[in-house]
Amino acid sequence: MSPISASADKRRVPESRKGMLKITEIFYSLQGEARDAGHPTVFIRLTGCPLRCVYCDSEYAFHGGDWMHIDQIMEKVVSYPTRFVCVTGGEPLAQKRCLELLDRLSEKGLQVSLETSGALDISQVDKRVSRVVDLKTPDSGEHERNLWSNLEVLRPHDQVKFVICSRRDYDWAVKQLGRLDCGFDVDVLFSPVWGQQDATELAEWVLHDGLAVRVQLQLHKILWGDVPGK
Ligand code: SF4
Repeated sequence: MSPISASADKRRVPESRKGMLKITEIFYSLQGEARDAGHPTVFIRLTGCPLRCVYCDSEYAFHGGDWMHIDQIMEKVVSYPTRFVCVTGGEPLAQKRCLELLDRLSEKGLQVSLETSGALDISQVDKRVSRVVDLKTPDSGEHERNLWSNLEVLRPHDQVKFVICSRRDYDWAVKQLGRLDCGFDVDVLFSPVWGQQDATELAEWVLHDGLAVRVQLQLHKILWGDVPGK
C-alpha cells in the first residue's frame, strides 16, 4: 500500500485506500456484554474515537491500526467457527466505510452487533444489525456528546447501555429511562465500571427501585481480566 503524501488533501480518500478500514484488531473470544453475552464471537475493533471517556478500556484503539480492505476483513471473519460478529472500537462509526462493512457482514447471514458511543448518527446502519447504543453518563466526562435523536430511530432488536460510574450516574440514568418511549420495550443495560462502581451495590439499587433494566457484568473481564484481545 502506498503512503499518503504530507501534502495530500486529507479529506480525499486516496485511491489505494478505497474500500479499506483502519483496524486495531480482529480476534475471537466470548461476547462479554449485552444480549449475546456468552456466545463465541469474532470482534472487529476499528481504530479511532472522537470521545475520551474517563473509564475507557480501549485507549489502545485511539491510534495506530492497519488498513485492511473489507474483502480481507470478511475473509478473516468467516475463518472463525461462529456466526456472531461484533463491530466495536474505538467508535466504529467514526469511519464512514463502517456502514459498508456492516452491510457486507449482514449480507453474509452473520449475526451482527455494533457497539457505538451514542455520539454519532446510527440511522444509516443496516436494519439487520443489532445496535448497542451507549448513553454517556455525567461521570463519563462525555455526556454532552449524547446524540439524543438516536433514540428516535431505535428498533426492537437494539439495546441501550448506561455505563455507571457512581450513584450520581445511576440517578441520572434512571431519569433518562422516561426518554426511551419508542413504542416497544427496548432492552436497557446498566453496566458498572470495572474496578470503580461496585456491581453488587448497583444490583441492590436496581432491585430496590424495581427497574425494568438488566444489570450486566463484563464476562470477558471476569474470565480473563482487563486485557486487550479478550
Ligand atoms: S466512546 Fe468508547 S472507545 Fe471512545 S473513549 Fe468512550 S469508552 Fe473509549
